[in-house]
Amino acid sequence: MACSCGKKSIIELSCENKKFCSRCFKSYFERKVLNSLRGHLPSKSMVGFDTVSLGGKVAFEVIQPFALNARNECVKNPSEKVDVLIVGTCLEDSVLNVLKESMGKTVQQNGIAPLKRCSRKEIECYAGMNSIIGNWPELNDFDSVLLECLESIEEKHPGIKYAIVNSRKEWCED
Ligand SMILES: [Zn+2]
Repeated sequence: MACSCGKKSIIELSCENKKFCSRCFKSYFERKVLNSLRGHLPSKSMVGFDTVSLGGKVAFEVIQPFALNARNECVKNPSEKVDVLIVGTCLEDSVLNVLKESMGKTVQQNGIAPLKRCSRKEIECYAGMNSIIGNWPELNDFDSVLLECLESIEEKHPGIKYAIVNSRKEWCED
């Protein structure tokens, strides 16, 4: 099946029941990231990007032009204090954080996570299209078991990751 514009699709997002060609995916993905950032990007400030993970690298690629437009200074992996720190937390990280919190574990959140509704699959696809190379942070045993379970539930019930993230008000604030 093709993208809604008629071109050959390169990615299928089953939880949204959508297929995209590369051009439509690019605009869908960038819009999603920038919408998530709305109200959080200052102007004439120092914006730091945590670009250690693939998510952070992709966030930098998408956001930097807008940050520069707003006359911000952009710094990768800042060593000093910045006005805003943008991190590459993806949908799966957000889900793990919600689940761990509900198990009584303490979860540290630093910075703004504009990719929190973007799955690894989407981020990897965007990275591939833009020749961005990077890795995901290594998960500890507990997190990788949890993620494996999640993936198998998601396969049978597309949308469960969004449902978990949306179940937490503080994670939904955009
Ligand atoms: Zn298309």
